[in-house]
Amino acid sequence: MSDHYDIAIIGAGVVGAAIAFELAHHELRVALLEARPDPGDEASKGNSALMCTGVDTPANTLERQLVRRGYERYMREAPQLGLPIRKVGSIVLAWDGEQTATLERELTSAASDGFDTVEMLEARDIYRRWPNFGPGIVSGLWIPGEAIVDPFSTPYAYVRYAVANGVDFRSNWPVASAERKSAQWTLSGPQGQIESGLVINAGGIRADHVDGLAGFHDFVVKPRRGQYIVLDKSARAIHDVIAMPAPTPETRGILISPTIFGNVLVGPTAEDVDDVDDRSVTQVGLSQLRHAMVRMVPALAREPVTTVFAGMRPATDKSTYQIIPRVEEGWITVAGIRSTGLSAALGIAEYVVGLIPSGMMRAKAKAALHPISVPDLSETSRRPWQDEALVATAPAYGEIVCHCERISLGEVQAALAAPVPPRSLKCLKRRTRVMFGRCQGFYCGARMQKLFDAASHG
Ligand SMILES: Cc1cc2nc3c(=O)[nH]c(=O)nc-3n(C[C@H](O)[C@H](O)[C@H](O)COP(=O)(O)OP(=O)(O)OC[C@H]3O[C@@H](n4cnc5c(N)ncnc54)[C@H](O)[C@@H]3O)c2cc1C
Repeated sequence: MSDHYDIAIIGAGVVGAAIAFELAHHELRVALLEARPDPGDEASKGNSALMCTGVDTPANTLERQLVRRGYERYMREAPQLGLPIRKVGSIVLAWDGEQTATLERELTSAASDGFDTVEMLEARDIYRRWPNFGPGIVSGLWIPGEAIVDPFSTPYAYVRYAVANGVDFRSNWPVASAERKSAQWTLSGPQGQIESGLVINAGGIRADHVDGLAGFHDFVVKPRRGQYIVLDKSARAIHDVIAMPAPTPETRGILISPTIFGNVLVGPTAEDVDDVDDRSVTQVGLSQLRHAMVRMVPALAREPVTTVFAGMRPATDKSTYQIIPRVEEGWITVAGIRSTGLSAALGIAEYVVGLIPSGMMRAKAKAALHPISVPDLSETSRRPWQDEALVATAPAYGEIVCHCERISLGEVQAALAAPVPPRSLKCLKRRTRVMFGRCQGFYCGARMQKLFDAASHG
């Protein structure tokens, strides 16, 4: 394959993947370079998985504009890629007058920006609809459009679509240097060199380092860790709405939300850390989460915990998205997408493509595009083992290999054989839900490793 590209995107998190998805619609030579073995393996793998409407973003900001556009597009386009969406709505809770005033200000800001389905609820309505909330709530802001999605399959679907439509995806390709000569960038790494007229840096928590390779130093990444508790599936009978406290100037607080996989998620904490790779789960973090959970929904205290994890927000020393078009230099930075990137990604992608010099974007839109569809991993969708016709033609879909999540051999085999296959066992987990359940792979882990090794080496 050619090593000369019109555009090279550095980073296949949800943002870089969405930009590749967008560019795949044009007759351009595009490379998507990813340091990790799999796409979506950094900030994009540890988040709350909310598809946000934008109501809770600051008014009159690019972030609100792009989250809103990203949400609109996701609701329309994600189902065409096979991605599931559950519009469960979110309720932001107030326990006193001051918090109510904060929510009323949010409502006014939202209403003036045309978010017309958002409304204040009184305590009586809240307890009637969600009787499991703890005592003392005085009001809430109801945002019915907010949804839960699959955070792992989303970047995967964008990359799959991009690859199916001509983008060259290179994993295990950490860019180590960038040099500009005669209006071309030469990007080098352990795997070799490529040349590109334009570079888009979507390096997430490492975006400041990537910009530094090209001599740009406009911001510094200040990673913000978020720890989570995942409760067992039984918890969803108690709680099936996105619930969070009224925000403070420092944080949006700890939320409790159902997941698309049928669990209940509690988190995230908001901790500034020095090391971008420090995804530790701590005693202090867990007790903070537990305290918030018990206050909001006391009945969840008795629910078993399936797992705990931490994610890392790619925040910077600036409070806004760092989308910096350096058109003359052929380098666009797309960084600082801290807490809303899953929702905003398609909006960001469209906006970034709009920043590309028109000479380059004169490239025609492709006449024919190849659709793709990723497996729907939602707990509330029909599972493959429930599909009698499928099991009759392909019996491996009736052979359950992960009993906690009820995942069949057929699904694992299909994931291993799919385009852009998983390059790690952890990625196979995210592509199928195997080892996601109560036993966390205790019973099925060895067999999964064997299947993975056989597919990787044979
Ligand atoms: C705790 C938490 C909760 C969140 N909740 C939500 C939510 O509910 N809804 C929502 O919309 N958003 C949420 N987010 C935000 C969302 O997860 C991020 O905005 C998004 O994942 C950022 O994506 P990214 O592509 O910019 O970064 P990343 O996913 O980090 O991708 C950057 C990629 O660049 C690669 N890379 C870095 N350096 C190089 C190099 N030199 N060469 C090649 N590749 C390189 C990395 O390996 C990585 O894959 C949350 C985030 C966190 C951490």
